[in-house]
Amino acid sequence: MNKKHFVLGIDGMPFDLFNEKLISNKMPKCKKIIEKANFKAIDSVMPPVSSVAWTSYATGKYPKEHGIYGFTEKDSRHSGLYIPTTVDRKAETIWNRLSRKGKKVVVLNVPFTYPPEAVNGIMVSCFLCPKIENATYPKAFYQNLAERGYIIDVEAPSSEEDKPRFIEDLFTAMKIRTELSIELMEHTKWDYFHLHIMETDRLFHFFWDSVTGEKEDEYSKEVDRFFEALDNHVDSLLRHLPPDTGFTILSDHGFCGIQHEVQLNTWLKKEAYFHPDKLYSLTPGRIYIHSEAKEKEILKQQLKEKLLKLEDSGHKVIQNVFFEEEIFQGMQEETGPNMVVHPFNGYDLKSNMRESNIFTDSLLTGMHTFENAMLISTLDITDISDISRVAEKIEEEICDDHF
Ligand SMILES: [Zn+2]
Repeated sequence: MNKKHFVLGIDGMPFDLFNEKLISNKMPKCKKIIEKANFKAIDSVMPPVSSVAWTSYATGKYPKEHGIYGFTEKDSRHSGLYIPTTVDRKAETIWNRLSRKGKKVVVLNVPFTYPPEAVNGIMVSCFLCPKIENATYPKAFYQNLAERGYIIDVEAPSSEEDKPRFIEDLFTAMKIRTELSIELMEHTKWDYFHLHIMETDRLFHFFWDSVTGEKEDEYSKEVDRFFEALDNHVDSLLRHLPPDTGFTILSDHGFCGIQHEVQLNTWLKKEAYFHPDKLYSLTPGRIYIHSEAKEKEILKQQLKEKLLKLEDSGHKVIQNVFFEEEIFQGMQEETGPNMVVHPFNGYDLKSNMRESNIFTDSLLTGMHTFENAMLISTLDITDISDISRVAEKIEEEICDDHF
């Protein structure tokens, strides 16, 4: 007997925060759900960017093998920076494989699903998609989205006065996604159903201080209301699952507050290493060195040593610096960064080209962390330590013909 499996992605939800909401009874319905499942903290991938981490989830591979390292990329085919899409991905996803095996899939809003792919079912792509008309497979399905006022991604607040509008949009976007999912769950055939909620990530970036309670302000109540709504949505989604359906709820990275942004290209300039084509950084913390092997090794060692000493008013900024060979095992291709810089919590690594200061203030209050993503599942997850190992278990369950 094959089992159906439902996956709910809650972007950027930290294990610790979620656990605290359960303990303090702020999410009583999720608390009940967890009693029937396994719950643990897992790691993201390096660098902990949503596009990269969800691609690792979907392909079961690390960046070197799937070829996605960040929101932006730079190479000789494009002048300047470009935004990679599914066309640039080098590995098959769980929905590609299941479709090939004749299983039915529904994939809604999962990061890095643009342009939408021809799956055996329905796909609605993510925030990378500029227009709703181009967001769906099959193409005509977009009409269904348009009719219900579906929001691909909420627009970031442009000012302090704009924040109430932003919060209302978060509620609306999450509600419509849930309603659409419940309808599809009941009225379409599926073996694998994957809904992604992006609104958590958006809330945490702009309201992290209110989320942690560090700041008691006019938004604290809104944040409580948001968690209450999320609790209700998760509950009603799971209530609508057909009997004996497995489920997994997971996030792709953790979150922490921002002390300062760190402009790595400015730092490279001040240390006289920067070159626009030969030695530069891309957000977050990716450093590219294009030079012959021996020189590259020397530069990597020098940069690592200096970065580990970098301080912001007496505080160490960089926790570790990884070389490509340490974290990017897999295909031996000349793509991807040569080093990835891992900051201490609070230091958000950026790569602005025009900034004269190394440490700058952020418009955001929250940033991603590598540690402290979460995983809840009806599957045995004891041996899973990071996001790239989850989908293979789900696929096994869906494709298990030995019953
Ligand atoms: Zn994310």
